[in-house]
Amino acid sequence: MWEPLAQARHEGTAGVRKGAGDTTGPAGRAVGLMGGTFDPIHIGHLVTAEVAWQHFQLDRVVFVPSGSPPHKANRAVSDAQHRYLMTVLATVDNPHFSASRVEVDRGGESFTVDTVREFRRHLGEEARLYFITGLDAVLDILSWKDPRELLNLSSFIAATRPGFSSDGLRALGTALGGGALERVHQLEVPALAISSSDIRRRVARGEPIRYLVPRAVENYIYKNDLYGGAESIGSRGAGW
Ligand code: ATP
Ligand code: MG
Repeated sequence: MWEPLAQARHEGTAGVRKGAGDTTGPAGRAVGLMGGTFDPIHIGHLVTAEVAWQHFQLDRVVFVPSGSPPHKANRAVSDAQHRYLMTVLATVDNPHFSASRVEVDRGGESFTVDTVREFRRHLGEEARLYFITGLDAVLDILSWKDPRELLNLSSFIAATRPGFSSDGLRALGTALGGGALERVHQLEVPALAISSSDIRRRVARGEPIRYLVPRAVENYIYKNDLYGGAESIGSRGAGW
């Protein structure tokens, strides 16, 4: 009964993904959770999730856009609905990817531990659960809510990311103690020096983002005037 958490449900396409690889019930499943602000989702996220899916033999990867991210309180984050819909657009053509509204619908501040607890409850103790992050995010885990409980509930996959070294992992292990680091698996992914911040900057400056995000996400950004690009891109902007 974990389906409601994993379903890409939104008006107009409700049920489209229903049942995708998902008919055998939760026992013994292997699920990856890819959390993020996804403002916007980009191919760095998608490649990371796909490599993790293959390497850890996951049944599926559920992308979980954050509601109101506590870590990003210093900048205006796009509306959760926009970020969720871009996540749906980016994942809809992959049968083992889906998008979850769980954080978006919960409202308030998003804490990963609450989300992972909810997935764990729905999936049961037997399921293998992996929280997929980039190295930068995992090195930051001590600032998250209840990091030790988080690592008890789920293993972590820490994907390589240009600009971030794994040197800090050992120190993190010492800080966490109790063999916590055994639950953190490093994963080599093709280096993609892409970030949502860079994409937002590019849009604001009128620079191309083609091929950095799926085409449907690019179209969504321009159609909804996200990231202050309307002035820079002239006739490509709003009003179509
Ligand atoms: P921002 O620049 O706004 O922080 P971002 O590109 O880091 O955006 P997030 O939504 O913050 O995207 O990231 C979600 C998760 O994806 C994080 O765990 C992050 O480390 C990981 N991630 C993002 N981009 C990459 C990338 N290019 N390669 C590997 N992992 C990535
Ligand atoms: Mg980030």
